[in-house]
Amino acid sequence: MKYAVTSKGDNKSNELMQQIKDQLDSLGVIYNEDQPDIVISVGGDGTLLYAFHRYSSRLDRTAFVGVHTGHLGFYADWIPEEIEKLATAIAKTPYQTVEYPLLEVTVRYSHGGRESKYLALNESTVKSVGSSLVMDVEIRGESFERFRGDGLCVSTPSGSTAYNKALGGAILHPSIPAIQLTEMASINNRVFRTIGSPLILPGHHTCMLKPVTSDDFQMTIDHLSLLHKDVKSIQFRVADERIRFARFRPFPFWRRVRDSFVTD
Ligand code: NAP
Ligand code: MN
Repeated sequence: MKYAVTSKGDNKSNELMQQIKDQLDSLGVIYNEDQPDIVISVGGDGTLLYAFHRYSSRLDRTAFVGVHTGHLGFYADWIPEEIEKLATAIAKTPYQTVEYPLLEVTVRYSHGGRESKYLALNESTVKSVGSSLVMDVEIRGESFERFRGDGLCVSTPSGSTAYNKALGGAILHPSIPAIQLTEMASINNRVFRTIGSPLILPGHHTCMLKPVTSDDFQMTIDHLSLLHKDVKSIQFRVADERIRFARFRPFPFWRRVRDSFVTD
């Protein structure tokens, strides 16, 4: 059993990271930053996003667990006072895991060349540089609409409580292997028309965006932002890969939604 810990970097998270290390070391769990079986993220949801991307090449061999040093998170759902219990549970393998779907993003370029592939835990967004975003939207290989507006967001089920929610998207239970497409301020009048509602696509349906005017885009993959030039198409689908979370006690998704957004 090998573990790694990532910290948000503030004093509180760094101290807690050291405490977790001390406890796990004393229980005989081995620290291995490059090839961990379990990654403990200390900070917030943003810290877990970072940990996910750090270890995204070994998702099949790594489980994640999040401790929050600020407010309750969707990924970071353990409180600092629970770390002793957490360390004991980690040392006493095997533990239960739960898997959440991920989003696969493929960017293809007009000059041919290699396509870029990404995995997102929360979402990917596409905006144009400067002017409005104009994109032809295809679903399952068929033309659906021509979008004009600020941008488009494609979210995973566990990312549906993040940016997607702010865009009026639905909250999707992470047991549903689907992706959700939401609009950012679409232009709708007699000339331009988009569906207006968020769309939820099942696992075997792809969504493809094709540039109409400009082919340079500012894209995000979770917290990462990248400029893509000479884009031919951007494809979204439910990824084959999934993220695994170690589950040491039940904390149902809908309770986390309530505690985060309604009342605790
Ligand atoms: P950030 O600006 O610190 O994140 C914005 C907020 O989103 C933070 O409170 C973060 O929680 C929270 N968050 C992250 N993942 C979440 C999830 N799955 N469900 C509910 N809340 C979540 O930046 P960051 O920490 O690097 O996170 C990047 C994420 O910010 C992006 O993936 C995007 O979803 C989100 N974002 C939201 C908006 C918006 O709502 N208008 C705009 C841009 C980006 P912590 O404080 O625990 O980190
Ligand atoms: Mn954050």
